[in-house]
Amino acid sequence: MKDDLGPMPRRRPAHKQAQFEQFEAMELYCPKCRKAVPVRKFLLLILPEGDKYEYRCAYCGSKVGDKMDRSGQFYGILRT
Ligand SMILES: [Zn+2]
Repeated sequence: MKDDLGPMPRRRPAHKQAQFEQFEAMELYCPKCRKAVPVRKFLLLILPEGDKYEYRCAYCGSKVGDKMDRSGQFYGILRT
């Protein structure tokens, strides 16, 4: 029997998005390191519909994911 699938990438549920720190305590699967690794978040683009971020492996710097952060507009609603 073949049993060499290795660890599956861990997927996080998308309900923890309300954090805006540059450093995010999260892990993504890195294909180079072949394991879940801590990631660094880089701002790639600022678009009208949100900021585009890229996640890179903290060890080897490979891109392991990206995300669109739709902040700004929603939070402009808050009045002080
Ligand atoms: Zn890596």
